Amino acid sequence: EQLANQIAAGEVVERPSSVVKELVENAVDAGATVIDVMIEEGGLSLIRVSDNGSGIEGDDLPAAFQRHATSKIYTGSDLFRIASLGFRGEALPSIAAVSRMTCISATDGSGLARRLVIEGGTTTAFEAANAPQGTDMSVRDLFYNTPARLKYMKSIQTELGHISDYVNRIALGHPGIAITLKHNGSVLLRTLGTGDRLQVIAAVYGTSTAKAMLPVAASDADYELSGYISKPELTRANRGSITVIVNGRYIRSHAVNQSLIHAYHTLLPINRFPLVVVELGMHPGLLDVNVHPSKMEVRFSKEAELRSLIERSVKSVLDGLRH
Ligand code: ADP
Ligand code: MG
Repeated sequence: EQLANQIAAGEVVERPSSVVKELVENAVDAGATVIDVMIEEGGLSLIRVSDNGSGIEGDDLPAAFQRHATSKIYTGSDLFRIASLGFRGEALPSIAAVSRMTCISATDGSGLARRLVIEGGTTTAFEAANAPQGTDMSVRDLFYNTPARLKYMKSIQTELGHISDYVNRIALGHPGIAITLKHNGSVLLRTLGTGDRLQVIAAVYGTSTAKAMLPVAASDADYELSGYISKPELTRANRGSITVIVNGRYIRSHAVNQSLIHAYHTLLPINRFPLVVVELGMHPGLLDVNVHPSKMEVRFSKEAELRSLIERSVKSVLDGLRH
């Protein structure tokens, strides 16, 4: 069992940012409106994610750290869950197998909470605690018992870069959640949770970038697109400045990125890129999930239609600037 968890950990927990991803996704799934992410030493010494979501019932807490324990229902329409089928109910036991993990959780505001401590996969404490509603997960000394994995970690700055990039994208995808990211005590990101995506763009990229954004919205029979695209004069964007949210989840799509870049390159020199934050809504049946889950790459079954919708809508916004 412990070995199985360590093997699974190798797939789920590649580096500190993978831990952040799993914990933050759980917080989002729990309906949190406030999520605080605290990091020390690039996540190798501490990753702490606390939320004000539903919490975990005291008696269910140890079970949440068992393999394939999941409270989530996997339906045919929940494509992101299917995309991560191999990982369902594996995140918490995998992380706990390769770190010293503490979970404090409460399902209401009575102050009554439970605290569970697991070190290298072994439970060392399970007791009553006092905490507000929600869940507070601390992961210390990641990979302390898997030195081979630890050796592959890059510098603190590199690991922090991956974490920060991921938290930024999640924040861009969830303007209704107030998200804070701190590293060694200093605030790297703070969003207000007002639902205003432009505020999140300002928090992530700065206010002058937010001022250089134009709203875009379009739809056809299958797809609905909305969000913000940069004015051509914005020069600070690069290949990584495109964030695509599909049905509420941050994903990567080569096709969407290509369409966006293509639409811009009718106006821009080939070495310049747009900054884009767009949300796509569609029937989950239009998503092809036959791609590697941890890469978050998806494909669309009506790709040509989607590409044409994106190119038309971006070009029409950019054309509007010239009149
Ligand atoms: P999965 O997310 O695939 O269900 P995990 O190992 O990530 O698997 O989590 C196991 C279970 O623990 C979840 O199904 C959920 O019931 C519970 N859980 C984990 N994190 C939280 C959280 N922050 N708030 C509430 N419940 C949580
Ligand atoms: Mg999970």
